[in-house]
Amino acid sequence: MPDPDISRLRTGRCGCGAVSFRVDGDPNWVAHCHCRDCRAQTGSPFTTFAGFPRDRFAWTGVPPAIHRSSPGVARSFCARCGTPMAFEGARWPGEVHIYVATVEDPASLVPRAHVYFGQALPWIQPADGLARYQGTGDDSGSA
Ligand SMILES: [Zn+2]
Ligand SMILES: [Zn+2]
Repeated sequence: MPDPDISRLRTGRCGCGAVSFRVDGDPNWVAHCHCRDCRAQTGSPFTTFAGFPRDRFAWTGVPPAIHRSSPGVARSFCARCGTPMAFEGARWPGEVHIYVATVEDPASLVPRAHVYFGQALPWIQPADGLARYQGTGDDSGSA
């Protein structure tokens, strides 16, 4: 019997299509991130990530460029069109964080929480009822 976790294949791409990826199975988590680094990287008030096991993820087009926004952090982006593509951090070994908006079917990745909500802009007042964490939510820093 096939493992249902690896039966689902998702693909994604940057705005110009040069950088693309595939990822199998379901994410470990999906969350909105309100940290300052994500804000700067995306030029948006917050962004939405899905965390996947790194060994189920592969780049399939031109390799992305990498910006190291802080120690132990690698942020991938398309060098041609600038789309942010992925986040990998030493704090989350074996995991890659994909920007949900780059996936072909972003509606299939449903956010379950707000993380780094302690850095959220004051005019972001979500009415979605999701948990709000000051940090990542795995360090008992719940809001
Ligand atoms: Zn591109
Ligand atoms: Zn962030």
